[in-house]
Amino acid sequence: PFDVLVVGGGPAGASAAVYAARKGIRTGLVAERFGGQVNDTLSIENIIGTTHTEGPRVVAGLEEHVKDYPVDIMNLQRATRIEKKDLVEVELENGAVLKSKTVILSTGARWRNVGVPGEAEFKNKGVAYCPHCDGPLFAGKDVAVIGGGNSGIEAAIDLAGIVKSVTVIEFNAELKADEVLQKRLFSLPNVTVVTNAQTKEITGTDKVNGLTYVERETGEERHIDVQGVFILIGLVPNTEWLGEEFERTRFGEIVVNKHGATSVPGVFAAGDCTDSAYKQIIISMGSGATAALGAFDYLIRN
Ligand code: FAD
Repeated sequence: PFDVLVVGGGPAGASAAVYAARKGIRTGLVAERFGGQVNDTLSIENIIGTTHTEGPRVVAGLEEHVKDYPVDIMNLQRATRIEKKDLVEVELENGAVLKSKTVILSTGARWRNVGVPGEAEFKNKGVAYCPHCDGPLFAGKDVAVIGGGNSGIEAAIDLAGIVKSVTVIEFNAELKADEVLQKRLFSLPNVTVVTNAQTKEITGTDKVNGLTYVERETGEERHIDVQGVFILIGLVPNTEWLGEEFERTRFGEIVVNKHGATSVPGVFAAGDCTDSAYKQIIISMGSGATAALGAFDYLIRN
């Protein structure tokens, strides 16, 4: 069996694997797609110490770093079941069952898509999901934010300080964000809020040039000119495959303590699949390190 089996090969998983392997213990890493969300990221400007880089370059670096240690990498394999017996068992889609003394879950998350024409086409060409990451790329431009919940309104407030104007598009009749955020939002001069609006299409040529929505009350179509569209209608953790024994938040995020331990002894978790307050590459890497050190501590005590 493995001493540490990491499930997930994004920044959290890669970091956990390196930290575990450096303890000289038997480490495996299984990932559906090594690199995770970073594969889909163009420009990255907030990995501290690296002023600018690109997703695929970071992924290549993660792979090189993990491969520098004797980590058993099983890429393109999806875990479908985990069960704690004497050892922790992880079953893969292909039927294989991996056994390990400890497991680190780092299966990340995915942004919920609006699923309208133009969204997939203009990803990284004006369609964005992370204001901390991509906000500065839209300095001085007009942008729309889809989603009036906390993450959407936080994004709108954040972006309003960088871009020329922000139009918030909310499907429901009212914003769902906390009162204090709404107050702050409505105090800003360059923000417009449109409620009861269903996004119909993100338009553009080689990059985004606008957004079309339907006024749900009248059924009428409206078009606004924007160079960026931020979609903030929810981040979904990849945790649906876990059993009831894993304590999760109402959003499905795995609850971890400060050592990265989950509610199941010997199973740790890190990165975007957990209830960490913020979801970023360096935060995932930090929590991956924490989970690996937590797992090592567990191993020497059990
Ligand atoms: P992920 O990167 O999501 O990796 C999850 C891993 O688990 C993948 O290998 C996946 O294939 C695997 N997996 C999932 N389910 C299973 C399963 N059942 N079995 C096996 N493997 C599984 N952050 C920044 O800090 N700066 C940025 O500029 C930035 N830009 C971004 C741009 C975009 C378009 C996106 C989508 C995100 C961006 N982020 C950015 C956020 C950042 O990518 C994430 O916070 C980070 O990748 C999370 O790392 P993670 O390892 O927790 O999860």
